[in-house]
Amino acid sequence: MRRVYLDHAATTPVRPEVFEAMVPYLTERFGNPSSIHSFGREARMELDKARERVAALIGAEPQEIVFTGGGSEADNHAIRGAALAAFGKKNHIITSAVEHHAVLDTALSLRSLGFEVTVVPVDQYGMVNPDDVRAAITPNTFLITIMHSNNEVGTLQPIKEIAAIAREAGVLMHTDAVQSVGHVPVDVRDLGVDMLSMAAHKLYGPKGVGALYIRKGIRIAPLITGGAQERKRRAGTENTAGIVGMGVAAELAMTELHQEAAREAALRDRLVNGLMTHIPHVKLNGHPTMRLPNNANVSFLYVEGEALLLNLDMAGIAASSGSACTSGSLEPSHVLLAMGIPHEVAHGSVRMTLGRGTTVEDVDYVVSVLPGIVQKLRMMSPIYDRAGECAIKDLCANPEGCHRAGAGSGVQSGPYSCK
Ligand SMILES: *Cc1c(COP(=O)(O)O)cnc(C)c1O
Repeated sequence: MRRVYLDHAATTPVRPEVFEAMVPYLTERFGNPSSIHSFGREARMELDKARERVAALIGAEPQEIVFTGGGSEADNHAIRGAALAAFGKKNHIITSAVEHHAVLDTALSLRSLGFEVTVVPVDQYGMVNPDDVRAAITPNTFLITIMHSNNEVGTLQPIKEIAAIAREAGVLMHTDAVQSVGHVPVDVRDLGVDMLSMAAHKLYGPKGVGALYIRKGIRIAPLITGGAQERKRRAGTENTAGIVGMGVAAELAMTELHQEAAREAALRDRLVNGLMTHIPHVKLNGHPTMRLPNNANVSFLYVEGEALLLNLDMAGIAASSGSACTSGSLEPSHVLLAMGIPHEVAHGSVRMTLGRGTTVEDVDYVVSVLPGIVQKLRMMSPIYDRAGECAIKDLCANPEGCHRAGAGSGVQSGPYSCK
């Protein structure tokens, strides 16, 4: 059976070139980069090279890169580090309703320590309005953390505008760019951000390694203490092989980024158009144009997302509902809900994220298989009204006008209609 991996937002495979570059640092070049002998020095040299490569990908200086244990750690480092540095002076953080949980939960957890957190809303496309951020700033605000692109719906945020607002107000600006780096151009100087998070495994590098860009001159507290590694910003013997892998992945991404983004965007359009043509009651979530090239988040009305995923999996297609972290729970995605998408529609949403290995044949296979699965599930669905056009609120001109004959009588058997 054909196997199609459309979950590149959850993780990507390690590229062969990356793997090959890593192997020596797990075998003969195993030295500790902090050791002064030749074993240590050869590891240190390669670490420095990786730092240059990662810095180059985002337009930073090598000394502005701190390697971490992944994207979540980079987010935690930025937020907790900034909070600890501001402790006793300022206590207000601004973030958005659609952040990855590594940002949202971390910021909210600081409330128990007396910090205040403002969560700015998003529009129907999942986009933050910079004016909302500006309006939320108080004299106590020390940090704004808004993601560069959303991991569930792919919407790109107006980070440059928000960073300009932050700078004007003298507030630190952090952005979680885990989904963007290596996929769309990201330049920290152009964006004007103070801190930016990355993860190797989202750009064909290994899992468990990431980086936080910290602009020169910015002082935040370390998250992990106990050693002088990473210029005392992240203690602990470096994950040399992982970091080397991240460096090579960054270098490869840099040379191929534009071409690959265009290729994936064309395949994404082919996928979305194919599904829209063959399946009624389908809606693309996220911003129509300001979005990642590889993300298609689609709501299939009257269908339960988890059932759809299981059926897709049986057909060899790997997709996801929302983020990998929330799937498995029955709560619909906080991102879709923040966009004002009704619960029942959010429940029928599936995220398909393309990658370097995705082919036209893969996309056409999905377009050939998905309509049948959706049709089968809809036929079994108690809320699918085969005859009418209105079965779910947002199909009615008047959103409150959707009702079902017999509703409230205990037997909901009649068709839906709009009032
Ligand atoms: C994957 C992801 C993270 C977490 O990165 P890990 O390396 O898995 O810890 C954080 N933010 C976003 C937007 C992500 O997509």
